[in-house]
Amino acid sequence: HRILLTGANGYIASHILFQLLSQPTPHSIRAVVRSQSKVDDVKALFPSASSKQLDFAIVPDMVKPGAFDEALKSDTPFDIVIHTASPCLYVASTGAKHFLEPAIKGTIEVLEGIQRVTVGSVKRVVLTSSFATVGAFGQVDETNKVYTEADWNPLTLDKAEANDDDAGLAYLASKKFAELAAWEVQKREGVRWDLVVLNPPMVYGPILHKVNKMEELNESVARFWNSFLKDRNTDATLAPNEVDLYVDVRDIAHAHLLAMDAPNAGNQRFNTTAGAVTSQEIADILRAEVPGAVDRTPKGEPGKNTQADGAYTIDSNKARDVLGWTLRSAKETFADMGRQLLELEKSL
Ligand code: NDP
Repeated sequence: HRILLTGANGYIASHILFQLLSQPTPHSIRAVVRSQSKVDDVKALFPSASSKQLDFAIVPDMVKPGAFDEALKSDTPFDIVIHTASPCLYVASTGAKHFLEPAIKGTIEVLEGIQRVTVGSVKRVVLTSSFATVGAFGQVDETNKVYTEADWNPLTLDKAEANDDDAGLAYLASKKFAELAAWEVQKREGVRWDLVVLNPPMVYGPILHKVNKMEELNESVARFWNSFLKDRNTDATLAPNEVDLYVDVRDIAHAHLLAMDAPNAGNQRFNTTAGAVTSQEIADILRAEVPGAVDRTPKGEPGKNTQADGAYTIDSNKARDVLGWTLRSAKETFADMGRQLLELEKSL
């Protein structure tokens, strides 16, 4: 395939890129990032990739009309576009617009760019959406609810805009309305590509991308680091065993590769969840498997892994059936991640 990958320097996209370049016959990928320094970071991760396997485009502002038009021009025409770029870091928020505009307009820009520039070569677009577009997060009674791809978060744009200082709400809305915008563009007359949407919950697992300081970790990894390792001690309070639905970053990256080719995936959305893991289970894995964690990760009540009664779950069977998606164990995810983050902390 000839693939355009947006947000290529991100946590999930770096794994997508790694897997794309690791195929027996590697694909040819154009990585889209926001600046030259990010081009350099991605290049450094894949020093042996040739310029035929990996080239770059810089799109500093994806909200600008025609933002992706130059990036979409290629001698070898693109047949796949993977759009991952979207604001995720809550601490970077300057208000609801910070999330909403780039997520929604950026998605529309890349899709309309395909229509303007690629003259029918693009066959499929894979969009990294989120469980944020599916779950209701307490807005309705979710007791024992099993979420499927038919569910949509009931959140409105008005509510997110009216609560300008609530980064969480703005993020949820940005993902929902970006995905809805993508479905709207896909249905327009003259569109010759189909859309595959992936809806992961919290993504955990080791990082590949360049991190200069622990304070720069992406949102989901930072949350894990802060709860289980950073400045923690064994007697600290462990987060309650609430709903913690997650997926391994390597597995969600793999789902993107499967989504490019699965014949029956076109114009469908997929919940992509490994399942629920409790804080206690994560702590137990870290303390048993990760050298150094035994002195820092809160002990809690080892072995008491019961999740809160009535918690909701996510049905990801469609991804297994249609994409042929498989998953690694929670032990592998959290042990690999814990080990890596402690080593990274030492090295920085
Ligand atoms: P990262 O923060 O590591 O990556 C986000 C990527 O989007 C980066 O390349 C970033 O570029 C780019 N980006 C952010 N804001 C903008 C903007 N305003 N304009 C252009 N590009 C921007 O996060 P993840 O890898 O976790 O996220 C990737 C995708 O996965 C996102 O769509 C996210 O919503 C989705 N997702 C992530 C989950 C998770 O738990 N991690 C869960 C569910 C979905 P730059 O480095 O220049 O800021």
